[in-house]
Amino acid sequence: MKNVNLTGSTEAPIKKQAEQHSEKSSKSQENVIGDSSPESSAMQASPPQTPLSEFPLKRILSALHASALFLDFDGTLVDLAPRPEEVVVSPQLIDTLRSLYDFLDGRLAIVSGRPIAQIDTMLSPLILPVAGVHGMERRDAGMALHYAPIPDFFAVQACALRLEESHPTLRVEQKRGTLALHYRQAPELEALCQSELTIALRDCPGMILLHGKMVFEVKPATVTKGAAIEKFLAESPFMGTSPIFAGDDTTDESGFEYVQKTGGIGIKIGEGNSVARYRIASPHALRAELFQLAELATLAQASTSVQPAQSVPTLSKGC
Ligand SMILES: [Mg+2]
Repeated sequence: MKNVNLTGSTEAPIKKQAEQHSEKSSKSQENVIGDSSPESSAMQASPPQTPLSEFPLKRILSALHASALFLDFDGTLVDLAPRPEEVVVSPQLIDTLRSLYDFLDGRLAIVSGRPIAQIDTMLSPLILPVAGVHGMERRDAGMALHYAPIPDFFAVQACALRLEESHPTLRVEQKRGTLALHYRQAPELEALCQSELTIALRDCPGMILLHGKMVFEVKPATVTKGAAIEKFLAESPFMGTSPIFAGDDTTDESGFEYVQKTGGIGIKIGEGNSVARYRIASPHALRAELFQLAELATLAQASTSVQPAQSVPTLSKGC
């Protein structure tokens, strides 16, 4: 494995990020929730621009040979749990992801807020391409690791740790260049957490505050899941394929926006406003779709292996 520091043309240096954020902050100093990014716009009260449609995943089977699959983890592939380490990953899910990864010739990646190491532990022994910590770290299809530069956001870190010390039901999760403050065990502290983090953020140019499911997350404004997917699509074997991205939370909005801009498919998991055009009701429902997809793909592969005249599998039959 090689380590590549993405400080080149594809990622703006932190100073540049700070300048960009400073410009935004002058318009919306109080709260990045007022930022115009798709991540933050999903948190607004207004409905999505396009009504979300139910989208049975198996209908896209016929186009899978030209597609790439990007999947968020928590709340998408697995049900949310009171604590991140308590999520349950079934052996069937791991087998399904392995089958789809093989069928797609490696064009399947996890795009998560978790570190890569946690994803590897959860999916062991399966090792997949992964964008971790929203793209702060990324393992490409060739298993090479890429890291975005770590920002200085000491004020936010100190604020979150102070809150956790004062309110032990809060939980701070420190990850590479980002921070999550979970209040699932203390929903009454939501407003306090938001106001304190918003104040601390004023001393951290280039960083933004996002409000997820019972969690506030602070991360560099330019590090997004959409940007991570774009990097995968610039590389083999993802290059030239149509991306499909499924996610459930605020940080997935940039991914929906990017894949749809390229003609791909964004799928919101669960309820809530979204820029995604399609919806699947729950992680359970997505897993059911993926299981069926893997089964049909396996059948199609078996079929083509005994019918060598078909060079490209046509998988719409029976869907
Ligand atoms: Mg999620």
